[in-house]
Amino acid sequence: MNRFLLIISGAILTFGLSGIALADDFRLPRSQQTPGGVASINLGKLDEKPSALFNDLPVAVVKVADNYHALVGIPLSTEPGWHSLEVTSASGPIPSYEFEVVGKAYPEQHITITNKRQVNPNETDMARIKKDRTSIANAKRYRHDEVLGISFDIPVKGVRSSSFGSRRFFNKQPRRPHGGMDIAAAEGTDILAPADAYVIETGNYFFSGKCIFLGHGEGLQTFYAHLSSIDVSPGDRVTRGQKIGEVGATGRVTGAHLHWSVGLNRTWVDPELFLTDSE
Ligand SMILES: [Zn+2]
Repeated sequence: MNRFLLIISGAILTFGLSGIALADDFRLPRSQQTPGGVASINLGKLDEKPSALFNDLPVAVVKVADNYHALVGIPLSTEPGWHSLEVTSASGPIPSYEFEVVGKAYPEQHITITNKRQVNPNETDMARIKKDRTSIANAKRYRHDEVLGISFDIPVKGVRSSSFGSRRFFNKQPRRPHGGMDIAAAEGTDILAPADAYVIETGNYFFSGKCIFLGHGEGLQTFYAHLSSIDVSPGDRVTRGQKIGEVGATGRVTGAHLHWSVGLNRTWVDPELFLTDSE
């Protein structure tokens, strides 16, 4: 009872003073059932938190207004058609939830990189890239149960690209699709945590440069790349609006910007779906 009153009065107070409502931390992402999108599936009112699997990987399950919702990250490589989510509650398996993924055509993007080693790495670079990949895979696997926030403020004020999912060609060679949003901003611009989180990992990788992984709970992650400096360490608890680093041009870039990714069940999805300022 006390806790309930505290949450209500806190929400009113915060909303009244700053326009940032506490409730915004727990606004569901926009559901967009395409490759690179998110299927937000209402699992209903249950006594205990259920667990859910998609492609054999655990999916984020969050409680919003009495109902549990599964937030399924749909990989860019997903074939359009019907897919199933396997849900298990305290009382046993629930008949699987079917959801339809519709196709989405992402544009091509052609980028010219002057440092040719960043497109065709040499043997030494490849050894480093291999190590980077292991570290990235480990970070993406990390999850904790406590959900600290599911909607995000933009981490940097700047010019946003909508290039998530674009099929990329570097110096005319096809590479993996773009797994995030690029925000152009001057070197040294503050990067702010978009919601409360734990710092999972920081690194300095061949392609991503200086980077940070944040965990917001249940496998919901955000990733920040090409930084000039990092202000946090693995294990730190950060709060929404706290500075975590500065924009830079480290790794494979054509200029200073923040590459920002949002991950669910170890796959990158369109960050736009989680932003508190986009409708
Ligand atoms: Zn990028």
